[in-house]
Parts: sequence; structure tokens; C-alpha cells
Amino acid sequence: MNAIGPQISSAAPQPSAAELDRSLRDASPAEVIAAALEAVGRDKLALVSSFGTESATLLKVMADVDPAIPVIFLDTGWLFEETLAYRDTLIATLGLKDVRSIKPAEETLSREDPDRELWFSDPDVCCRIRKVEPLARALKPFSAWLNGRKRFQGNARSDIPVVEDDGARLKFNPFANVSREELEAIFVRAKLPRHPLVASGFRSVGCMPCTSRTAEGEDERAGRWRGRAKTECGIHTMKIS
Ligand code: SF4
Repeated sequence: MNAIGPQISSAAPQPSAAELDRSLRDASPAEVIAAALEAVGRDKLALVSSFGTESATLLKVMADVDPAIPVIFLDTGWLFEETLAYRDTLIATLGLKDVRSIKPAEETLSREDPDRELWFSDPDVCCRIRKVEPLARALKPFSAWLNGRKRFQGNARSDIPVVEDDGARLKFNPFANVSREELEAIFVRAKLPRHPLVASGFRSVGCMPCTSRTAEGEDERAGRWRGRAKTECGIHTMKIS
């Protein structure tokens, strides 16, 4: 994978999401990341990662382009210990230079979820105060962000563009086009460590109360919010202002 992206002059006005999407439609993930860097500069670009079961692949591609791109990690207070350990493993393995672990505001938690049962009574509000609002705060200094969604994940992700307009900023989806097999190839080629919970049957990992194992033949995200209509936490379905 090479890191040379389509040439976008830094002297020109910032291209629109639609223009970038057109020019990057068939670009490799590394080319998309390089083009994002070129479009807004490293100080204005962040990558948002859950350090979940597939996150190592995007972080590896990013680290090959520039390991100092800031990485935002939403530490909701409900994560598995294994995810926190995996974050630290990947920081060391990939040489990530700027990983920012963002927590929800204490004041909001004590006001809206004093008993820590909101995940059960109202998961949308729980995700809002533990993920969406903290991400909005963390993204304030940035004008573009990268994330690891893939079309093959289905549902709301099945037709994501490579670049989209996320309200106040550009949102780059470098893996929009990649297949499950290509992700696996990155894992193998780079000898990336797996999330510790993969070995015990978890194929997609989020917060502890809202994550379960998946059975053979189930969609990989079927274990998230099992038994509910909810399939997304909101950071990708709401405009982050
Ligand atoms: S995934 Fe579950 S525990 Fe985590 S923020 Fe959302 S509702 Fe709360």
C-alpha cells in the first residue's frame, strides 16, 4: 500500500466532501489518509478508534502514513479491561504518538446516570452522554476525522461514501471499500495482535453491558445491543457539531 495520495494543493481552498469523495472513490486506505492530511494538515485531523476487534488494521495503516496523527479513544467507563489493555498494546506495537483517552463529564454522569443503569433503561441517552457528547468535545479542535467503518458491515454502513460532510467537519472513511479478506490480510501481513476477547468468541466489542458473543453464522455486529432495535451508538448517525 503506498502513501501517496491524489495531489490536492494546500494553497487551494479546502475541497468539498463531494469533490474529495469523487477523487478518492477508488483510492487505497493509505491514499485516503494521506489525502486527508494534505487537505487539512495534521493539527486539524484526528482518527477516532474504539480499539475494538478490527481497529488495529486502520491504526496500522495510519501509523505507516503518520503515527503522530491524534487518535481519539472514547473511554465510556463501561469498557472491558481487555480493551484498555489492548489500547496500550497497540500504542506500543504501532508506535502511536498521540492517543487521547476521552472520558464523559463527571457532572453529566452524576446528574443523568447516578445509578449506572442508563445502559438498560435508555441506551440512546447513555450513548449520548458517554460517547456522542465527549466526542463532540474532543473533536472541537479538528476540521476532519477518520474512522474505520466498512460497507460490508451492513445496515446503516452499507452505502457509506469514502468522504462525507459531517456538519462542522469532513469525515473520511478510508475502509469504506475494503473487504473482510483485505482486513484479515493486513492483520496477517503486519502480524498485528488480536483483541484479547476475539479468542473467546467476541467479534465486535463495545461497552461491557451492551456486548455479547456472536454465534456461528450471525452478523458480526449481532452481539451489540442484542435484543434491541439499536445498531449504532450515535457517533456515526448524528452530525457532530
Ligand atoms: S454502548 Fe451501552 S454502556 Fe456504552 S454508552 Fe452505549 S448504552 Fe451506554
